[in-house]
Amino acid sequence: MDLKNVEQAVEEFWRNNSLNTVEELDNLQIFSRPLIGVAGAQDELFECLKDEDAVGTEHMSPNQWLASSKSVITYFLPFTAEVREANRCMGLPAREWLFGRIEGELFNKALCRFLVRWFKEEGYEALAPAVDERFKIVNRRSNWSERHVAYVAGLGTFSLSCSIITKCGSAGRLGSIIVSAPIEPTPRDYMTKDENCIKCGACIVRCPPLAISESGKDHAVCSEYLDRVLARFHPRYGCGKCQSGVPCEDRIPGARK
Ligand code: SF4
Ligand code: SF4
Repeated sequence: MDLKNVEQAVEEFWRNNSLNTVEELDNLQIFSRPLIGVAGAQDELFECLKDEDAVGTEHMSPNQWLASSKSVITYFLPFTAEVREANRCMGLPAREWLFGRIEGELFNKALCRFLVRWFKEEGYEALAPAVDERFKIVNRRSNWSERHVAYVAGLGTFSLSCSIITKCGSAGRLGSIIVSAPIEPTPRDYMTKDENCIKCGACIVRCPPLAISESGKDHAVCSEYLDRVLARFHPRYGCGKCQSGVPCEDRIPGARK
């Protein structure tokens, strides 16, 4: 299977699917063109994700999800400039960001379901862990971490705020599917897990509940804050101040740019 065929199918879906626009916000477009990466299902890094200091023992490798797995396709959906720029204010999340986070996730799930159907029509087996009945989150750790999978598939490295900094930045959403089709893996053009983060500290200053420090992000503090945002903006929630108004918002900052 040639990755170009997958990219074409994704691009067509991204261009034409109505879930990528919010009528209520004057037909706001949520996502820019997706970025796609591929990892071999047997990549040894998948086993490393089971370490306690990575994702944890519950993390399932590709062949535990799909016995015939050969490749893992992961994608980054970058938020459009309209969504990102609206959220550059300090404090509460912008309306555009709240819709991008919740309605955007509907588009994300629709895209991974579409890709599963597309691969099956091409004669392969395919599965999306995020919408599989075995997917679970225990103590804030999931058994399939989109961020770690994106790292393995060459999409980018971790940020101080625990996002993934891709060549289109960190403001966006991630998704993935596992397929039985052999596809050439994307080279990982980095040596360390946080190489794309320049440690500028801008995200530390922007985080409303001060969940980020020089040593990383306190997930509990961030989650508790998101619960308070949900209580205020129900059914939407989100924050993303650490992904907007920062040097890694829409690019790899600094020298690596
Ligand atoms: S704002 Fe600076 S420190 Fe924070 S994740 Fe981005 S590059 Fe890293
Ligand atoms: S999402 Fe908001 S609360 Fe959570 S780490 Fe980022 S800035 Fe802080």
